[in-house]
Amino acid sequence: MSTDMKIGVVGAAGRMGRMFIRQVNETDGCVVSGAVEAPGHALIGQDIGVLASVGEIGVALGDDAGTMIEIADAIIDFTAPAVTASNAMICKEAGTALIAGTTGLNDDQNAAILKASKSVPIVSAPNMSVGITLLLGLTEQVAGLLGPEFDIEIVEMHHRHKVDSPSGTAIGLGEAAAAGRQVALRNVKQAVRDGHTGARKKGEIGFATLRGGDVVGDHTVVFAGEGERIELTHKAASRVIFAGGAVRAALWTRDKAPGFYSMKAVLGFED
Ligand code: NAD
Repeated sequence: MSTDMKIGVVGAAGRMGRMFIRQVNETDGCVVSGAVEAPGHALIGQDIGVLASVGEIGVALGDDAGTMIEIADAIIDFTAPAVTASNAMICKEAGTALIAGTTGLNDDQNAAILKASKSVPIVSAPNMSVGITLLLGLTEQVAGLLGPEFDIEIVEMHHRHKVDSPSGTAIGLGEAAAAGRQVALRNVKQAVRDGHTGARKKGEIGFATLRGGDVVGDHTVVFAGEGERIELTHKAASRVIFAGGAVRAALWTRDKAPGFYSMKAVLGFED
């Protein structure tokens, strides 16, 4: 009997979904056990290997998330906030690990994921790349070292199809900077500036959002002081960095106790 880990993909016809099919297919130790899309999606019934341009793999795109989740050891869900929150509850009942990459979740949706993580391992990160995981750590460290006389601004750019703003990664970087300063981001966040805003408030963490073209994801954390400026930048050139991270996270959950884990834990950047 095969000991390969069975991985299910939600939103398999999406930009990320297709990459997961390819990535799981190419990675030793795991197989795609099922893949679903939104009910009524035009591609339901198609072989997902064909969808992902890797040739037929004998698994048809379905629309029944419940059954797919029951069969899988872990699922990868990069879809929409309500979908991921609802699938977290199904994972909880089925004992299936969840790799949750969807961004833009509200408090209730985040609470649902946290609740499910009491019963199953869940890895959740707004950005599953190695580079951004490192940048998060560096941002926290630098914010703590520099102190409040340096103004922190976070600039991000993504493709024109992105629906949430600032990006989940930018918010994560803001949280890392706030943690470095030992404050809560919600008390210092400045995501919109328009019109006569007055001077910048000391201690605020600002966000600027750019949208356009096919940009996969650029993030810069600016520490602006008197007479000098430090900028930490990450540029994603391909979505494969997220796909590689997510599949690595799925394999990592195999022997893990229930819990809510970050990519730092998966990559061994923290205990
Ligand atoms: P996309 O729109 O290309 O894909 C989303 C897919 O989900 C679509 O195919 C859609 O039909 C499908 N979907 C919607 N409802 C569904 C349902 N009920 N059941 C199954 N499938 C359903 O979007 P994308 O660019 O692939 O991004 C998806 C999400 O992942 C976004 O929130 C994005 O911000 C996030 N993302 C996270 C990371 C990360 O590293 N954490 C990286 C890239 C994107």
